[in-house]
Amino acid sequence: MPRPHDPGPREVAALHPQVPFLILLKMDLQRRGLQLTPAALDAVQDPLYDYGRSYVIYGQGEAVRKNAPGPLLLRDGTSVLVLAGAQTADPYTVDFHDGRFVLYDAAEFIDEVDFTPRPDYYGKRTSRGVPMETIATARPQRLDLNPYRFCHFWEGGNQCRYCAYFTDVTATKALVDGKFPREVDPEDIYETVAEALKEPGRFSQVMLTSGADPRGERTFDFEVGRQIEALQAIGRNFKTRRFASELIGCAYDKQQLQRLHDETGLTSYCPDIEVWDPKLFDWICPGKAKFNGRDWWIRSALEAVDIFGPGNVYTNAVAGVELAQPHGFKTLDEALASHFEACEFFAKHGVVYLSLVWIPWRGSQFHGQKQPPLEFYARLIQGLRDIKRAYGLKAVNDDYRHCGNHGDSDLERID
Ligand code: SF4
Repeated sequence: MPRPHDPGPREVAALHPQVPFLILLKMDLQRRGLQLTPAALDAVQDPLYDYGRSYVIYGQGEAVRKNAPGPLLLRDGTSVLVLAGAQTADPYTVDFHDGRFVLYDAAEFIDEVDFTPRPDYYGKRTSRGVPMETIATARPQRLDLNPYRFCHFWEGGNQCRYCAYFTDVTATKALVDGKFPREVDPEDIYETVAEALKEPGRFSQVMLTSGADPRGERTFDFEVGRQIEALQAIGRNFKTRRFASELIGCAYDKQQLQRLHDETGLTSYCPDIEVWDPKLFDWICPGKAKFNGRDWWIRSALEAVDIFGPGNVYTNAVAGVELAQPHGFKTLDEALASHFEACEFFAKHGVVYLSLVWIPWRGSQFHGQKQPPLEFYARLIQGLRDIKRAYGLKAVNDDYRHCGNHGDSDLERID
């Protein structure tokens, strides 16, 4: 498949010299995805790289399943959370020759790359026999946990239109050999984190996220109770009152936020706004609109600042999804203006607004929609970084070391 004619990272870097080539390459890898040649796929079966998840090669008759590697690493240590397994028509390719992983865009050599080493706790089991890599997955320096693997917004078709996560519990069961309910046992969480922390110098933050669960006496009470149990289980591994942690959750009320702060060692909270424009928020995020609307989600982030402190509350935008059709913005300039308005609003209130690259995942309602060009993301991350810098905000939790999923926080490396 020939490359589309959007300018690639080298051309965009020439147009936007303030944005380093490797950050642009990372965002283009996220945009377009990645596939492995048979030689590279064989090489990542090595225990050094084997993350154990299934890598599926589509479109070649019967699907081929092998173990997949962890996050890709660029030459400067930038991590790229890109699903190895093409989701788009125009993915990059990683090949393996002469003992090195090499990145190509079609036939063009791009750079030497590597993959994140497999953590020591992978392959071990909890005392209940559950594989630890199904309890926590590893980024280069961060542990990611999903204490609840179902999103109730999917019930009745209220899921976010770009989403392909937490869709059904059957898939979850398959992932963990049928031994696992939707809800993760806090004891398994405690033991997995304890084992992971034995690897010297590897992990410096824990992140929790789950599917939305609006049930309870007050909206999201069930979800909050579950997060508190999980955070308390993690906290038993630390001698300090607080431990470096982030909860990406739904929008909680002040009382729920206070409980999270007072009853756990949580240090930061992130209710994702996803889409700033009010009409597009309602169209793209019907579950969030129903429980309990855009103003509720904004207010939750602002109230959390009073509890966790300025700079310790985040919100993510799925950048580019506001251009989805038929209702989305018609021009890149309108979309950028909306992001900058949102970033300025949140920054004024001490909330860090971050962008993610939109991928029209297979399995989402927006599969097949057109993504914005890479240059949109160059302009976006430059503008977002400039606004946050003017307000003295930095992404301490979601920086390149811990999250590695945001071009704008990557840019802070050069501040
Ligand atoms: S809240 Fe939206 S993005 Fe998150 S899992 Fe549910 S449907 Fe997906």
